[in-house]
Amino acid sequence: MAKSKAENTTSRPQPVKPDGLLQRLADGPVICAEGYLFEFERRGYLQAGAFVPEVVLEHPELVEMLHRDFVHAGSDVVEAFTYYAHREKMKIIGREKDLERINRQALDIAKRVAHETGALFAGNICNTGIYDPADPATHKAVSRMFDEQIGWAADAGVDFIVAETFAYAGEAKLAAEAIKKTPLPAVITMAIHKADRTRDDLSVGEAAKRLEGVGADVVGFNCIRGPWTMLPLLEELRTAVKCHIAALPVPYRTTPAEPTFQSLTDPGCNYIPDGRPFPTALDPFVCNRYEIGEFAKQAYALGVHYLGVCCGAGPHHIRGMAEALGRKPPASQYSPDMSKHILFGSDKQLKPHNVAYGEKIYGR
Ligand SMILES: [Zn+2]
Repeated sequence: MAKSKAENTTSRPQPVKPDGLLQRLADGPVICAEGYLFEFERRGYLQAGAFVPEVVLEHPELVEMLHRDFVHAGSDVVEAFTYYAHREKMKIIGREKDLERINRQALDIAKRVAHETGALFAGNICNTGIYDPADPATHKAVSRMFDEQIGWAADAGVDFIVAETFAYAGEAKLAAEAIKKTPLPAVITMAIHKADRTRDDLSVGEAAKRLEGVGADVVGFNCIRGPWTMLPLLEELRTAVKCHIAALPVPYRTTPAEPTFQSLTDPGCNYIPDGRPFPTALDPFVCNRYEIGEFAKQAYALGVHYLGVCCGAGPHHIRGMAEALGRKPPASQYSPDMSKHILFGSDKQLKPHNVAYGEKIYGR
């Protein structure tokens, strides 16, 4: 929303819009849909493995449509699809020359949808794949990669920047520092693997404190863990920091024994090429929309205001989250009404012999 003339004459400590991220978080939940990589991999527009968002260049119209689908389903944020569109990933697939073009194009697409729908417009940076805690030269290279992507995002006029999927707290801290060289709010989320600690062996509370200490406005977790193995970590985080907290699990039924989607095993299926369900055979583990809704309610009750779903998310998950938080996004117009179902309904117009048959076919 544009500022009024009166608002423009008052000086504000930060150039954050009156209805920007921090104000919205203070007022209640903010939902951010993620997980574009998995969605486009399923549809056949990018490759599992390197997971580079080439669809931004080859089929921008599909990226725009997916942004629209997620806003329709209840996302308050349109996050530019620049995840893994960084120098290292572009190099791995031999497309480093397209680095700036893919970033600017992804930002343009997201900006258009955000402005048309009134959603927040977010830039995105992520884990680089080159960070090595023991090698300071990599820290400089990582910061350079962040700076170039943040520069393109700032040029595009983003409302804030998401830096995500950091297993190393040290790399997350470099991301926070890079964003805080600009006046933009920083959302920093970590990816916690099997141990309940960062890869550089910090408790999640200690890692979050360090991020808050360098100015992160929101800290939390995204990816890797499903709802029920992320929730206990959120309790630890809530007591560690005063800033806003974020939680964007993957929509998979992870367990205490297999707490991450990369550790899930599927003994019931012998046909997965390398035997590991991650990343292309996770279908039997997908959470339904009601589980995602329940997670959102429990996380919000803990004080987590920045909520979303990561790899594997579909618009129905975002709608489930939004509705569980009391929202009614446009897609809710088509939320289920089983009273009109041919077999399981209760509507008077339904045929009694079908409804009677429905009673026979459900359950054992
Ligand atoms: Zn993810």
